[in-house]
Amino acid sequence: MQVTFVPPHIPDILLKDFQPRSLLKRPDNTPEKARFLVVDAHNHLFGDLPPEELLRIMDAVGVQTWVNVTGNVVLPFDEAGYTIERRPIEGFIDHYVKAYPGRFTCLTMSEFARWENFGILAEDDFVDRAIQTFEADVAKGACGFKLTKELGLRFRDKTGAMIPVDDARLEPIFRRVEEMGLPTLIHVSDPEGFFIPMDETNEHYPVLQEFPSWAFQDSFFSKNELLEQRNRLIARHPKMNFILPHVANSPEDLDRVASWLDTYSNTYIDISARVDELGRQPYTARDFFIEYQDRILFGIDMPVSEGAYRAYFRFLETRDEYFEYPDYLGRWGHCRWRIYGLDLPDEALRKVYHENAERVAQGR
Ligand SMILES: [Zn+2]
Repeated sequence: MQVTFVPPHIPDILLKDFQPRSLLKRPDNTPEKARFLVVDAHNHLFGDLPPEELLRIMDAVGVQTWVNVTGNVVLPFDEAGYTIERRPIEGFIDHYVKAYPGRFTCLTMSEFARWENFGILAEDDFVDRAIQTFEADVAKGACGFKLTKELGLRFRDKTGAMIPVDDARLEPIFRRVEEMGLPTLIHVSDPEGFFIPMDETNEHYPVLQEFPSWAFQDSFFSKNELLEQRNRLIARHPKMNFILPHVANSPEDLDRVASWLDTYSNTYIDISARVDELGRQPYTARDFFIEYQDRILFGIDMPVSEGAYRAYFRFLETRDEYFEYPDYLGRWGHCRWRIYGLDLPDEALRKVYHENAERVAQGR
């Protein structure tokens, strides 16, 4: 008798519907609280979150101080991603910073907090007003300057020309920040995948399909040009501390980040929203964290939740393997791959969690 084997029918599934569940059995050592006090050195108010609610989450996980890097802005979420809503900085200073001493601090975007107007240099007095607003915000309590990635990607002058990050016309603003002894957090460019064609080889494809406005494959300046402009700006202001968020926006190439940290002694990086990149290269990332433990700041840059903070602590503190983490928007179940913990030594952890942030705040 002849027996034919008939394999089961395997249905077609669309890529967007493919949500595999890991069958790997490994323990989950997620910490309830961070091992040492934490400064979240990079976050924003995503919508109106009352300070009491924020403090409840901070206390539950061990975050001592929370830095709103866009003190004069609230970021409500819509289908296109985050939009921006400019608010007087007094709102955050009075209701968070002054009301709860030691728990909150903020930077200001000054006149760059204007999504509705991408022609920032269209008005002749833009630079003067940016300096005035910056000085006024600092007098009210802001601790530094935050520059958005829209510079180099969207902001144009009155002739319609794209403004490079190191445009000489903006120099007086940076000179003033430097004179005042304050740091600048400067976000330039974005993940590598946002700048290459959005095709089947792009590892960011699902993210870009969901948020097309994050795709810069047709950007006026290439990603490398933008990073070179940023580096020239850094070199021009050796007395100012620059915080380069998102692992200096080159977490895909930590050797390159290392060379920048070696070259520019006035730079720090933060790890916000990049545990995906760091956690997929745990050996390299661990070596990098140990080598540059004096230059790395903790931050998450996403809507706060106990779960989001604990995922970061799990990444930094444990040897856990192949685990999930919140995506750029703080959502679970959207990760492109899973990550591995770094099991950092206590000395490095203390520096990354709070000591480095305290040093930057003191202007060192
Ligand atoms: Zn941010």
